[in-house]
Amino acid sequence: MATGGFDYLVLGGGVAGCVLAGRLTERNGLRVGLVEGGPDHGPGREGWPGGLRDARLLPRDEVWDGDGPPYRLRGKVLGGSSSVNGCWHTWGAPGDFAEWAALGGPHLCAGALEPYRLRAVRAMGLREVPDGELTAWATASLAAAAELGYPEIADMAALGPPRGAGRPPINAAGHERVNAAQAYLRRDRPGLEIMAGALADRLVIERGRVTGVRVIRGGVAETLRAERYLLTAGTYGSPGVLLRSGVGPADDLRRLGIEVALDLPAVGANLIDHPSRTLRLAPSPGLTAALRAQEEADGLYPSQVAIKAGSAACPPGTWDLHLLPIAGAPLFGTLPPGHYEVGVTAFLMKPRSRGRVSIPSADPAAPPIIEPGFLTDPGGHDRTALGDGLRLAGELAATGPLRTRASPAGPPSAAVGTYWHPVGTCAMGPGDSRDAVVDGHGKVHGLSGLWIADASIMPSIPRCNTQLPTLALAELLAEAFLGQRTSPGA
Ligand SMILES: Cc1cc2nc3c(=O)[nH]c(=O)nc-3n(C[C@H](O)[C@H](O)[C@H](O)COP(=O)(O)OP(=O)(O)OC[C@H]3O[C@@H](n4cnc5c(N)ncnc54)[C@H](O)[C@@H]3O)c2cc1C
Repeated sequence: MATGGFDYLVLGGGVAGCVLAGRLTERNGLRVGLVEGGPDHGPGREGWPGGLRDARLLPRDEVWDGDGPPYRLRGKVLGGSSSVNGCWHTWGAPGDFAEWAALGGPHLCAGALEPYRLRAVRAMGLREVPDGELTAWATASLAAAAELGYPEIADMAALGPPRGAGRPPINAAGHERVNAAQAYLRRDRPGLEIMAGALADRLVIERGRVTGVRVIRGGVAETLRAERYLLTAGTYGSPGVLLRSGVGPADDLRRLGIEVALDLPAVGANLIDHPSRTLRLAPSPGLTAALRAQEEADGLYPSQVAIKAGSAACPPGTWDLHLLPIAGAPLFGTLPPGHYEVGVTAFLMKPRSRGRVSIPSADPAAPPIIEPGFLTDPGGHDRTALGDGLRLAGELAATGPLRTRASPAGPPSAAVGTYWHPVGTCAMGPGDSRDAVVDGHGKVHGLSGLWIADASIMPSIPRCNTQLPTLALAELLAEAFLGQRTSPGA
């Protein structure tokens, strides 16, 4: 069966997909189909399951690969990972966006992105975290950071001082998560058709042009057709759709028995994520009692403070670490009610290691192969810099405000965690580069009619949480499609 008539088909209803579908249907007369592999819980927050509504939780319902290693987690529901994530917003340094601009064009530099960042901040309804909402551990952590000389940063979601401590604003109304679907999609717009529970399998490519997409809904395959196709299935999902379509490293595709439509070696390569290690602490009876009282009164956010810090290798004037004081129910494993995991987690924000996403077969139901590549850079920079992060976490824990509330609980865990910020597997860059999949407006090199607009197109990782940069990039690309400033090409 073939269904046509769309101006745009947006493939993946996550953060970027909701921005694009929302903004494009603001233009009267445009018909936009939004294809999402997970469910849609409707327009109002009241229809959403409790776990997905509570901004204090990182729910494991409605995720891809929920039983796998933690780095595989990502939302499988309308709103994508914004429906299951930590609701934090921070912003990068000018140098991060200069890296993008060097590969994608000057519209990606920090100054040019500013209006789109602001648009996203407004649309997501970001709010500050008032003193009264801070846990006893978060309050003490701000005092600890001040004791070490970190200045307080007023707005963590904007360009700001390179080092310091602050409270990232959150996309929550009260304690209710406002995900990208709720923030961007207006169901009453006649041009918008949401297709939930619909898996984008592969693109139909004819003579270098995308002319359809094979979608599986309720076990039935159909081909949807549009003028333009926008791939927004995320850093793990978008390369999968391309590879199943025969777009990727030709040798790998042949090995899988997939007919090669276009040899694009960079598809799935260049996976970058922020790795972490945690300094675990044993909370004092006083801290445990305070956390218990706060949990009973108002619930607990596991972390509310981020400190921008620098490893020994980090040049002055910027940062390459986030230190996050954490206190709450364990993210993994369990503790008896009324007991809490406490510590300081160090995240490496400019890692040099690179991983890879590939597929085991052409079967769209087969989970992707994800090799995060944490701490594998040949020079060992990442391991050393993250070690510096743990040392700085130890300095924080040794300050007066923290050491009176928690004591060392043995050596830091050797396990490497993640901030859940994968990017880079469909990286932007010039058309003659073997490292590039798309240009600076998300247009796929060598194919007509296809753009990618999600976190996968970031060629390097910004030193911040990735939701706000994804929102801002999608805002920029949506405006380009609407033809207000720049033309996104054919
Ligand atoms: C647990 C967790 C915590 C996080 N915490 C934060 C945080 O606090 N702050 C922050 O800034 N960032 C956070 N992030 C990262 C942030 O959520 C991502 O950077 C952002 O969601 C990326 O947007 P995206 O559009 O690229 O992908 P996503 O939002 O993941 O959207 C991809 C969408 O595509 C759908 N999809 C995938 N494949 C297919 C297919 N074949 N067919 C149809 N649909 C498909 C998915 O179901 C999903 O809805 C977190 C992420 C996770 C997983």
